[in-house]
Amino acid sequence: MKTIGLIGGMSWESTVTYYQVLNNVIKEKLGGLHSAKCLLYSLDFHEIEKCQSTGEWEVSAQILSEAALTLEKAGADFIVICTNTMHKVADKVQEAISIPILHIAEVTAQVLKAENITKIALLGTKYTMEQDFYKSKLIEDGIRVLIPDKEDIETVNEIIYNELCVGIISKHSKEVYLNIIDKLTNKGAQGVILGCTEIGLLVQQRDTKTPLFDTTLIHAEKAALFSIE
Ligand code: GLU
Repeated sequence: MKTIGLIGGMSWESTVTYYQVLNNVIKEKLGGLHSAKCLLYSLDFHEIEKCQSTGEWEVSAQILSEAALTLEKAGADFIVICTNTMHKVADKVQEAISIPILHIAEVTAQVLKAENITKIALLGTKYTMEQDFYKSKLIEDGIRVLIPDKEDIETVNEIIYNELCVGIISKHSKEVYLNIIDKLTNKGAQGVILGCTEIGLLVQQRDTKTPLFDTTLIHAEKAALFSIE
């Protein structure tokens, strides 16, 4: 079994889900007392968010690269960055290490392709929704990407940082998200990517008929499967 090197803490609320899914998948696949072999480097999200909001992506790339290198030296066989947004610096992190990174948008694109999805909506932080680093991975695979309008982008983003990343799960915010999901579905999206690792804490598949693609579940499951390939 390969050892999974997790860079987590962004936020830790969703890193918890990664740990649960990794172990559940290994248990399901191997049975008995099997569990996932993994190392976790959990960062201080305060520092990372500061870099995001001030645009100091180089500094955050350095922090993540050091974490990845530490995990590699400790015996990790591959790296899982437990957040969508920080994949903005994934290429920089990859340059610093000699083990592969399992890219969250690439594994999500694989799932969408397997389901013949050609037009998908994307929810996430404003960086993930507005910038190209994430959407380009889907577009490269022939998938069209819809994002919410300006006002909804702000709302989705604020709920992530002010509520979900600090463990606040509100009924009202859930309704707000479901309403935005409906709007995107009405615009022709065949499904919605929950492209922020905390959104699954607020909205789940049972809440809507629109197919949801929860990147935390997809990423963690793929990592577990890769570790036993
Ligand atoms: N975990 C979130 C994501 O998947 C947002 C927090 C962050 O900015 O890293 O994008």
